[in-house]
Amino acid sequence: MSWLEVENVSLAFGGLKAVDNLSFSVEPGKVFTIIGPNGAGKSTVFNLICRIYDPLEGDIRFGGESLLGARPHEVINHGIARTFQNIELFEHASLLDNLLIGRFRHGRFSPLSELFFLPGQLRQELEHRRKAEEVIEFLDLEGYRHARVADLPYGVRKKTEMARALVASPEILLLDEPSSGLTTEETDDTAFVIEDIREDLGITVVMIEHDMKLVNKVSDKVLAINEGRFLATGSASEVQDDPDVQAAYLGG
Ligand code: ADP
Ligand code: MG
Repeated sequence: MSWLEVENVSLAFGGLKAVDNLSFSVEPGKVFTIIGPNGAGKSTVFNLICRIYDPLEGDIRFGGESLLGARPHEVINHGIARTFQNIELFEHASLLDNLLIGRFRHGRFSPLSELFFLPGQLRQELEHRRKAEEVIEFLDLEGYRHARVADLPYGVRKKTEMARALVASPEILLLDEPSSGLTTEETDDTAFVIEDIREDLGITVVMIEHDMKLVNKVSDKVLAINEGRFLATGSASEVQDDPDVQAAYLGG
């Protein structure tokens, strides 16, 4: 069970401090939500965790190990998967192919699978397919398996992105605005999905979210930031009642 620890991290774009000496930690097995007005630096925090950007200062650790030495494509090998604020899928490939193209986390086969004497690559491919089918079932996507992503309704594409992240068998899942663009019903469904991800799959969830109904429903802990800086942390209601948080939303 690994903690995610972000410690005194800063990043600037030109003169703008997008993340300013920010620290927080995420307890394993929980749903941790980051809120804040547009431009607060939320997505940048995800990009820092996923090694898209190098922090100017500070450290980011998962399971006690610094991620700062990892390249972006290696982050998944540390057990970290994400979705994007704007869906990033292969539009012209099928849903299933999108899950198979996704990065697979290596080195999680049981010693028993060695008994099958399959060449490593084939064994890995079979395991990857099995995992993809399992995730498709978990997210109720069976009916769309062979549909082209470009033809899928928006809500299903959004779910497909989540599926692609789950196929990698992460320990922690970063969701960037899972409800954006969804209908109220789809957002309610997303709340159940997030609860199942935590409870049934045992995956820690870090979520950036604007929809306070969803935030209230699923968050164990909330962090509010503004202009890259820490504002408040606590339960969803504690954070929403915080005067600094209310002022930041009124000012934005
Ligand atoms: P949020 O996700 O909270 O809405 P972001 O993390 O996307 O905010 O952005 C934080 C700030 O950093 C914003 O002012 C945004 O314009 C700026 N920013 C984000 N990414 C870049 C980039 N690649 N280049 C320059 N500025 C950026
Ligand atoms: Mg964002």
